[in-house]
Amino acid sequence: MIAGDRSGPATRVTLVSTYELGRQPFGLASPAAWLQAAGFEVTTVDLSREVFVPEAFQADLVAFHLPMHTATRLAVPVIRRVRALVPAARLCCYGLYGPPNEGMLHGLGVEHVLGGEFEQALLDVARGRPPAAASALPRLNFLAPARGGLPPLERYASLQTQTGRRVVGYTEASRGCKHLCRHCPVVPVYGGRFRAIPQEVVLADIRSQVEAGARHISFGDPDFFNGVGHAVSIVQRLAEQFPGVTYDVTIKVEHLRRYRDHLALLRDTGCQFVVTAAESVDDAVLEKLVKGHTQADFEWVVEACRAIGLALTPTFIPFTPWVTPSGYLHLLRTIDALQLVDHVAPIQLTLRLLIQEGSGLLRLDPQSLGTTLGPFDERRLVYPWVHGDPQVDRLQAAASALVGRGLAVSRSDLFDDLLGLTADCVGVATPTRVSHARPRAAVPYLNEPWYC
Ligand code: SF4
Repeated sequence: MIAGDRSGPATRVTLVSTYELGRQPFGLASPAAWLQAAGFEVTTVDLSREVFVPEAFQADLVAFHLPMHTATRLAVPVIRRVRALVPAARLCCYGLYGPPNEGMLHGLGVEHVLGGEFEQALLDVARGRPPAAASALPRLNFLAPARGGLPPLERYASLQTQTGRRVVGYTEASRGCKHLCRHCPVVPVYGGRFRAIPQEVVLADIRSQVEAGARHISFGDPDFFNGVGHAVSIVQRLAEQFPGVTYDVTIKVEHLRRYRDHLALLRDTGCQFVVTAAESVDDAVLEKLVKGHTQADFEWVVEACRAIGLALTPTFIPFTPWVTPSGYLHLLRTIDALQLVDHVAPIQLTLRLLIQEGSGLLRLDPQSLGTTLGPFDERRLVYPWVHGDPQVDRLQAAASALVGRGLAVSRSDLFDDLLGLTADCVGVATPTRVSHARPRAAVPYLNEPWYC
């Protein structure tokens, strides 16, 4: 490719990740395999674990993986830097947060914005051919990811258990989701569809990570039970082929209840915990979010998992335009009553609903949304909103500050502080806890908490 000519095929391709929840990025390793198989010289850069080395960006094509909001925000200054550093390189962004932010990305000098099933389209871009539209979700012939260029697994988040620490690998058995939750960033790109990754590819990826030292595999599927037969078969084969290797998955409340007959199988095949996006314990809020479950469903799932010894790790979006201080106190008291204090990462109790470009929430009228949105904030990549009751925004800020200061404090102590803070806000006495503190790792957890 001639310097300054951005139209021809590439020779050297650099794939960049800025953040993937502390996991070694599948979103670099998978396209790296496709590009290497086609003869490209591929460099992978994970800026969550590596420093910015200018030489790594001396490529004909630099492609940024944008799987989540934080990754996209972190990518923006890097894209600017690379644009200035290598003016002749073509820039590409791919992944869930590409299409909704297409206009902003083009404004940064990004030529190509690809969607969710990106490997073939990225190969087309590298070959100088027009890629399929970002809205296309082709059924791909996946290859086993190529992880050789990435930092070793020991440098990523690890699993903490009562017996010690385990090296964690990361893979995906499916992408997309067949559900249409209103606030979910998967929906604008996948629109209720999901794509299974062939079992042989998933197991080959697990094998390569086990050989590299992984003793636990974190499955990043938006919902592991979207294709329940596929999921069950994979964990059965994982247990057969990699005895002693454990795993975690994310499964929605509705699926945990519907596929209750498979919960014991998860436990028996080494599942250490199931992340579930409970989001709220207020049925009216759950309905606004089109979550497909109720508080009663969530409580049923908590009890069902506890009864068989399967750890549940719920996530929440406590601060929405619809929550009240009393509603937040109800959430804390429910978590306590369900003996879940040690199961919930404190940051989950501070999160505020993000309304991003493409969000289904943008289709709600202001009355249903309960707030008026400000203009799109290009720095934070959200439509800002304020709560109708300023007390709620103050409570959220105070809860965030408290949790931010308390990184070395136990979940139980932080929870007590949150209870006190919230009771003060509501104007009632601090409720007495009914659950008891347990040792920090009684519930296994990854030492980089889930964040969007
Ligand atoms: S089930 Fe989860 S991944 Fe699927 S649309 Fe709802 S929030 Fe998104």
